[in-house]
Amino acid sequence: MSTPSIGIIGGGITGLVAAYRLANAGARVTVFESGSEVGGLAAGFTLAGHPVEKAYHFLYKTDAHILSLVDELGLTDKLTFHPSSVSTYYDGVLYPMMSPTDLIRFTPISLADRIRAGVTVLYLQRVKNWRKLSTITALEWLRKNAGRRVTDVIWEPLLRGKFDRYYDKVTMSWLWGRVKQRVDSRDPKIGEALGYFDGGFRVITDALMKRLAERGVDVRLDTRVSSLRNDGGQVVVATGSGEERFDRVLATVPSNVLAAMMPAYEDRDPAYFRKLRSIDYLDACVQVFATPQKITPYYWHNVNTPNAPFVVFLSLSNLVGAEKFGGLNIYYIGDYVPAEHEYMSMDPADLKRRWYAELKTIFPEFDPGQVVDDAVFRLRNAQHIVDIGFEENKLLPYQTPCPGVLMCNFSQIYPMDRGTNYAVRDGNEMADRILADLARSPAEAAAARPEPVVARI
Ligand SMILES: Cc1cc2nc3c(=O)[nH]c(=O)nc-3n(C[C@H](O)[C@H](O)[C@H](O)COP(=O)(O)OP(=O)(O)OC[C@H]3O[C@@H](n4cnc5c(N)ncnc54)[C@H](O)[C@@H]3O)c2cc1C
Repeated sequence: MSTPSIGIIGGGITGLVAAYRLANAGARVTVFESGSEVGGLAAGFTLAGHPVEKAYHFLYKTDAHILSLVDELGLTDKLTFHPSSVSTYYDGVLYPMMSPTDLIRFTPISLADRIRAGVTVLYLQRVKNWRKLSTITALEWLRKNAGRRVTDVIWEPLLRGKFDRYYDKVTMSWLWGRVKQRVDSRDPKIGEALGYFDGGFRVITDALMKRLAERGVDVRLDTRVSSLRNDGGQVVVATGSGEERFDRVLATVPSNVLAAMMPAYEDRDPAYFRKLRSIDYLDACVQVFATPQKITPYYWHNVNTPNAPFVVFLSLSNLVGAEKFGGLNIYYIGDYVPAEHEYMSMDPADLKRRWYAELKTIFPEFDPGQVVDDAVFRLRNAQHIVDIGFEENKLLPYQTPCPGVLMCNFSQIYPMDRGTNYAVRDGNEMADRILADLARSPAEAAAARPEPVVARI
């Protein structure tokens, strides 16, 4: 084949990285992005004149794939790792939660329970065979091993916050992955260290977009792909502007979005489509604001009060320093909710009023009148539900039933939590996969079976 043409659906990190690698290899690449900007869930905006993310983002020291890309793009001097600080808000009190000593001082549970909570985390750190945890839900495992009270006060609110109505469905292997990620990335000297870019995460997307422009990649914003089909060995991509043909297409969109794009292939493989649609997602609702007021000493706050209206509150300026934002404090309030939840449609002004009022109950000195800039974002399909049997039933092959169309979205990351590091890994790998596929003879391609996606840590 002379110059292969590749269509990429989705201009998030996975799509942009795949486009960059494929363009480097000489392919003619077009990226279709339905939004008005690239970056997907990691996209940024400007708050009080400062570039930040719509949804709070940081990196771990162990995020090898994205760190390698950062180095390759010449951005290493823009990334700094800062000591993190975590707290838990429970029953009207904010408790630091960074060290074993903090846990011992966490009085909402008995001393025996505090010790049990610590031992459970130590045990999880030593587990190597995570698959043995994939047949039990996190809630059941925690109740059995950490005890009822520890689970009720510490763990269940976190599971409810991240997974809403699915809180009792999530597999323990996912929680094990979260614990592993945090423990592995601890710095012996400063404890947990989290990475953030001077200029925000957009320094990565800006650098990628510059490389894509230099390589002639056509990035079409505000261009939603409505359907895909194979015609005579090429993939036909339909958008509002008409149809275009490509040798291969990579779809990085959520599974439910992809399922709606290829209805013509449902008869070929009904089981594939059943599985694709069975992956549940939650949306995220995030409020960001800037104020001269410093209302907390911590970066991260888990809000563990039962029925709290949001699950997380964090101060980006406490992580990286308010001087990066002209002395302003940057705060995020966030919650994961089902698509039909009122947060996803209510008037942003009402949401702000409600969340500011709640924040005031936690930090009475907080004065919404001093907020100089704020914004509300609704992010669709922000988190998939990693339930029991996920690996066997929902980890779908990259090859879809539509010949020439590959799918790679964050629901294929398992058992680790999705994140920009794995988006870079997957973007790299999908480019290699497409190039290898293009190098095959038609007979080899016809004989090839879809390779399963492998769970890995
Ligand atoms: C609240 C929150 C906090 C997070 N915190 C962190 C963090 O601290 N660290 C970290 O590393 N990661 C974090 N993440 C996760 C990280 O943002 C994602 O894992 C990563 O950005 C996923 O990239 P992606 O390209 O795979 O998917 P996406 O970013 O979802 O990109 C998919 C793209 O496809 C586009 N699209 C959808 N439908 C169509 C269509 N029909 N046609 C064309 N385009 C379409 C979408 O607009 C989107 O741009 C966080 C996510 C959220 C929601």
